[in-house]
Amino acid sequence: MPFTAVIFDFFGTLTPSTPAHVWDDHAARSAAPLGIPVPVWRAALDSSFEERATGSLGDLRSTILTLARRCGVDPGETALTAACSARAEAQRELFTLRDDALGTLGAIRERGLAVGVLSDCTAELVRAWPELPLASLVDAAVLSCEIGRRKPDPELFLLAARRLGVTPGECLYVGDGGGRELTGATACGMTAFMLYADDWESADAQPREHDWAGPRLSRLSAVLDVLGAA
Ligand SMILES: [Mg+2]
Repeated sequence: MPFTAVIFDFFGTLTPSTPAHVWDDHAARSAAPLGIPVPVWRAALDSSFEERATGSLGDLRSTILTLARRCGVDPGETALTAACSARAEAQRELFTLRDDALGTLGAIRERGLAVGVLSDCTAELVRAWPELPLASLVDAAVLSCEIGRRKPDPELFLLAARRLGVTPGECLYVGDGGGRELTGATACGMTAFMLYADDWESADAQPREHDWAGPRLSRLSAVLDVLGAA
């Protein structure tokens, strides 16, 4: 069946992969206004990823407040606002796209295919999404913290297809392999490709599908070659 839609993972796929030291730097920036030691704050962020990615801690302000209290700090309004701003700003830097991302999305749409994004993400991406340059090129975005599920939950993949108005079998899925997304997409009937770009090996912040034996792309724009051959 020819593809009628392409669904992309966001972090490490449409954006470059993020090395672990960047996460430390980002944690330090939101820890400072709260007066929480960076390792303690980093641990609170890391251990709450499941909760944050499924939306159970609420919006950014609610999330930061809950995590600060878990660290033994009850921040005042000024400190909380400053920490939220620092966190949002730091996260926003991670929303910078790969050089070939917008061109690739535009070319896919020019071919008449729909474009979806499926991301395991936290409240910061939801908040920033409408202002991101790719938003107008994406027909449907499924963001885990809005749905309350994480990859590889099949419902996320099926929801993305439904929102695009296509069947899973018509979807090409492209991701760097976080959250066992490639296996998850395949199990739902999609055709999955791993984006194995130059930065894949050097960025180890999140566990990925090292055992993926399926097809790979060496750069994002190579998805156009796959579509051309389909
Ligand atoms: Mg990813």
